[in-house]
Amino acid sequence: MRTLVVDHPLVTHKLTALRDAATDTATFRSLTAELVTLLAYEATREIRVQPVSVTTPVGVARGVKLARPAPLIVPVLRAGIGMLDGMIRLLPMADVGFVGLRRDEESLVAETYADRLPTDLTDRDTFVLDPMLATGGTLITAISMLVERGAASVTAICLLAAPEGLRRVERAFADDAAGAPGIPVVVVTAAVDERLNERGYIVPGLGDAGDRLFGRI
Ligand code: URA
Repeated sequence: MRTLVVDHPLVTHKLTALRDAATDTATFRSLTAELVTLLAYEATREIRVQPVSVTTPVGVARGVKLARPAPLIVPVLRAGIGMLDGMIRLLPMADVGFVGLRRDEESLVAETYADRLPTDLTDRDTFVLDPMLATGGTLITAISMLVERGAASVTAICLLAAPEGLRRVERAFADDAAGAPGIPVVVVTAAVDERLNERGYIVPGLGDAGDRLFGRI
């Protein structure tokens, strides 16, 4: 697994405003979309393309277009939905699948309650949207669902990550003891924070991303 921390002043500026407990819901939503678009720019650096030529008003130019099948974006319900707009802004041609995972607040184990994914993901670049990589349980389940369906690549975009969660995801998709290659997974995030607290929240983090995006229900 590879972790890419996007080190850019605009990313840090927007993340800092997101962290602020005084940031209201409307601002939190628009900042999340903007931050995801910036992270997505880095996350799509190795997206599959194919060569094409186009006729310009003065000649022929060689370029590329995104390869088929179209990339698949997978927001993890519920908080990942808040990241979808920002991602689609960059990949308007992508398909969108949905995974619903609920974290048991006692055991912190993720349980699947929704699975709306294509059955075959062969040759597809896939992008999981989950704002908080905390214990890693949710992300491991979501990534495993894509890997089982044959995804060509899996890139997770997270606003924030905890070191504990990153280590767990890394172990889950590492090369096996015999040296067989693990699954190529990339995590793209705006920052890696200090730690998790006893309730599995990222410290200093930004609180409950789902509640801040959609309210406490
Ligand atoms: N989920 C959140 O929304 N926030 C955290 O800090 C951890 C998990």
